[in-house]
Amino acid sequence: MSIELQPIGIIRSAFMEKFAIPRQPSLAPAARGRILLSPPYDSAEAVAGLEQVSHIWLLFVFHQAGSGPQHTRVRPPRLGGNQRIGVFASRATHRPNPLGQSVVRLEQVEPGCLTVSGIDLLDGTPILDIKPYVPYADAISTATNQLAPAPPALLPVHWEPDALAAAQQAATRLGEPVIELIEQCLAQDPKPAYQQPGPQREYGVRLWDLNVCFHYPHSDSIRVLSVSLSP
Ligand code: SAH
Repeated sequence: MSIELQPIGIIRSAFMEKFAIPRQPSLAPAARGRILLSPPYDSAEAVAGLEQVSHIWLLFVFHQAGSGPQHTRVRPPRLGGNQRIGVFASRATHRPNPLGQSVVRLEQVEPGCLTVSGIDLLDGTPILDIKPYVPYADAISTATNQLAPAPPALLPVHWEPDALAAAQQAATRLGEPVIELIEQCLAQDPKPAYQQPGPQREYGVRLWDLNVCFHYPHSDSIRVLSVSLSP
């Protein structure tokens, strides 16, 4: 059996590439986005009542997960990239059907447009469905997960003064919490688990229309070197 699904909209987000996107929603509350609903869901009726809800589930397509052979076991980055677990024990993007799910904060409801925060979705991700988060059913206070017992440890993020000034300017221009976004995303330690970069190795990440350049002066801290307009 094959099933055909139509997206109900797409999300516009700060994340122009997969690198440095938090590995789960809510890890970067400053990561905001706008869900643009497609007709006929761009009407006031389609979102009526949603203003009474603080969080929503997004069901979406990992449209940039890439194709290729499907594996029944995966190596999640959280486990250091060298331990394999079953695909159904992981939230890996490369899975039998490229479906993602994220609980995000609903900031604003307008006909045709939902503003959300704490997202972990790439810009342009097709959204298949939106459902209200129901705390009494969805938040299970006794739940455990020994594969992911706690949020990842955070690295301190320091700034070159010029980079901080440029981020401040960009925040005003974009009307977005750019400094917090950069700090929250980089604090997750975006480099691949197997890399041990020296201080001379520089990384770049695109957030909104910015190119953010950073390095690891020591293995356990990050310094933002520059923030400039992406070419
Ligand atoms: N909360 C979701 C996603 C977990 S994986 C779930 O559990 O289903 C999170 C990773 O998905 C991010 O680090 C990002 O790199 C990746 N991602 C986000 N949007 C994507 C997209 N449209 N295509 C491919 N990968 C995507």
